[in-house]
Amino acid sequence: MENLSNNYFNGKTILLTGGAGFIGSSLTKRLLSFGSKVISVDNFISGRKENLVDLLDSNLVSKVENLTFIQADVSQPVVNYLPENVHLDLVLHFASPASPPRYQAKPVETYLVNSIATHYLLDFLINNNPDARFLFAGTSEVYGDPLEHPQKESYWGNVNPNGERSCYDESKRLGETICGVFSRSFRMDTRIVRIFNTYGPNMDPADGRVIPNLITQALKDQPFTIYGNGSQTRSYCYIDDLCEFILRFAAKEGLAGETINIGNPDEFSIIDTAKIISKLVLGHESEINIENKTLPSDDPTRRQPDISKAKTLLEFEPQVNFEAGLKLTIEYFRNLI
Ligand code: UDP
Repeated sequence: MENLSNNYFNGKTILLTGGAGFIGSSLTKRLLSFGSKVISVDNFISGRKENLVDLLDSNLVSKVENLTFIQADVSQPVVNYLPENVHLDLVLHFASPASPPRYQAKPVETYLVNSIATHYLLDFLINNNPDARFLFAGTSEVYGDPLEHPQKESYWGNVNPNGERSCYDESKRLGETICGVFSRSFRMDTRIVRIFNTYGPNMDPADGRVIPNLITQALKDQPFTIYGNGSQTRSYCYIDDLCEFILRFAAKEGLAGETINIGNPDEFSIIDTAKIISKLVLGHESEINIENKTLPSDDPTRRQPDISKAKTLLEFEPQVNFEAGLKLTIEYFRNLI
């Protein structure tokens, strides 16, 4: 499989919002290795300084060539935080809490960063760098509790507009709308990547999502917290595969206005997820120790991406299977605990 990403990125100036996040920090490292000049912005609402420890000193000043870090909230006009006279080739808008407990704890920040920040960034580009490309981090949450399975890009979703998850789901949907307006009405090159569940090193062990929770519980020999009966499903993509999809999408010519699902279609129930983690950490998958908890409201019953469009257009499919990716993630968490 040819790597499409590298040449496009060499020498490009890229604004990356959410640069200290789980996905943003991995993208930062790859972009620097491809010779990009990266302006990384984060306000640490959910991003973590630890994720950039190799790249920044304790005052958040870059220790490496071609990286500028700015601590700022991108839900304000871009001129408030971006240095003057920077010519941007590409904006990757990845700032946003993504874990349900985290975005529910910061609902206003969450809906602003996905809506007004998207508007401010595109409004800045149209006035200053109208030829720049803009890639929005969308989400499988736009499908809500899906009535269609697996989910294709053409599916409009089944989302509660006023529930516990709405600050995230609906603002991501509005973010997509804003990208569509700037693409259709103002001919900007906007692209939307719908990201399904992702895991791997640099995930915050305390962020409350299922993979960090279950791995941390296994490592501490605590019971697995299973919400509801655990029959709900998710399809998990390893971080390196996800970044490869994203960078291929950002780099490829001719994809302006496109929306593409990315993820790994291998689907597991939450109970089976716990059993696999038990096997890898504790050496057995039978008689796992469970602490049952209430299923959160609007928790999607099933989720699996249809990635045929990504496979065709981006000429890539996931390379890391669930157990292999989990082993790498478990090692990362083991060193933190
Ligand atoms: N979940 C669980 N135990 C946990 C954390 C999550 O059973 O300790 C369930 C949760 O109810 C959901 C699934 O695992 O059905 C995935 O949750 P996560 O928060 O990782 O992300 P989501 O895909 O719901 O955004």
